[in-house]
Amino acid sequence: MTVREDLFGVSDLYGVSEGLTEAELAPLERLQKVLDEVAKPVINEHWEAGTFPTEIVDPIQGLRLIDPEEFRGDGQPHGLYHGLRKFVLARTDASLATWHTAQAGLFRTAVRIGSSPEQWAEWEPKIDQYQELGVFALTEPDHGSDIAGGLSTSATRDGDTWTINGAKRWIGGASSADRLCIFARDTADGQVKAFLVPRTAEGVTLEKIERKTALRIMQNAHITLENVQVAESDRLQECNSFKDVSNMLRVSRSDVAWIATGLQAGAYEAALKYVSEREQFGRPLAKFQLVSEKLALAFSNVTASLQMVANLTKRQDQGIFRDEESSMAKLFICDRMRETVALCREVCGGNGITLDTDVARFHADAEAVYSYEGTHEVNALIVARHATGVGAFV
Ligand SMILES: Cc1cc2nc3c(=O)[nH]c(=O)nc-3n(C[C@H](O)[C@H](O)[C@H](O)COP(=O)(O)OP(=O)(O)OC[C@H]3O[C@@H](n4cnc5c(N)ncnc54)[C@H](O)[C@@H]3O)c2cc1C
Repeated sequence: MTVREDLFGVSDLYGVSEGLTEAELAPLERLQKVLDEVAKPVINEHWEAGTFPTEIVDPIQGLRLIDPEEFRGDGQPHGLYHGLRKFVLARTDASLATWHTAQAGLFRTAVRIGSSPEQWAEWEPKIDQYQELGVFALTEPDHGSDIAGGLSTSATRDGDTWTINGAKRWIGGASSADRLCIFARDTADGQVKAFLVPRTAEGVTLEKIERKTALRIMQNAHITLENVQVAESDRLQECNSFKDVSNMLRVSRSDVAWIATGLQAGAYEAALKYVSEREQFGRPLAKFQLVSEKLALAFSNVTASLQMVANLTKRQDQGIFRDEESSMAKLFICDRMRETVALCREVCGGNGITLDTDVARFHADAEAVYSYEGTHEVNALIVARHATGVGAFV
């Protein structure tokens, strides 16, 4: 079996992965090996315990997946590689994909878009080599979907120091981050600005969000900020309003569309294995027409999702970034994902609700992916605003 077949053979019917160069395929192959050898054997135990598999951190970060040496200097965009990296991670586990994307996607995108050229020159190597781990802290306890107008964490400037007060909720990976990218409203001009706050700064308190029923491996934090002092030099100089934050979200919604596609592939492949092995009425489940129709639908969903998100990425590589395009991908692919995991869980019968088949983990985790980075409704409203020309948010 070739590397490409091993990585994408079962789920990539239309050959999206054929767009990868050999140089791009090589790090993904190394990633798959680490996932198979280090993550897969322990993933369900960690899910059940609600703990993060720290044993995976060094092996994955050691692969330097964000900007591998071989891509440097050719001046070409590598959107498909970055997307399929999320696909490969999510095909094994959505929490691992979310954890890695917090650094390689959300945090990196925020700093890249929000930085001055001097700040980016300083931060890019630190982020790409995992010397500084960061997270994206936008959502608040009282403001999720209405964060644009509602964001209430405040930032007040006095000379070259800012004082931040407020709270953030759901922040993925915060407990192991060096920096929290905190979005706060400037009390002077009312605009939203971004600050790279050290996690250990005085006045920062983190509490783990417990009792989650999805993405249990991912550690999400409730963050309280009480008179936290931040230097002006740690403010992202090019983030001066919520418009700049929207530019960041446009990119990160496509990241989530890739994760939702990989998650579906993981569920589909696990279900395929189960129905080929499990026998009822003296034959494998795969031989029943009603079962095979469900698999055909799941397979079609994965294929359609891959096509859509790869096309979106191709356009972004060409410099085309539009809210409605990434929102449509997040909206549509997450709907397909929900259908896919339900079909896959169904064909596994009772065993589909135990962690032993893997499908149950994908089924549960899909609910978090469905809601983060803009809910179904918020993304539908963005797409509909483009279609009708009028906003229907309130
Ligand atoms: C596992 C997980 C990880 C996350 N990680 C991060 C992170 O790292 N950083 C970060 O900043 N945030 C993060 N989030 C937060 C996430 O982005 C929010 O949960 C999401 O934006 C929705 O906000 P909410 O949960 O407050 O829901 P709400 O805004 O309270 O919405 C509840 C329901 O009402 C609907 N609704 C709201 N307004 C409207 C409207 N105008 N019309 C129709 N329906 C509406 C919503 O669509 C939803 O169905 C994470 C969330 C989860 C669950």
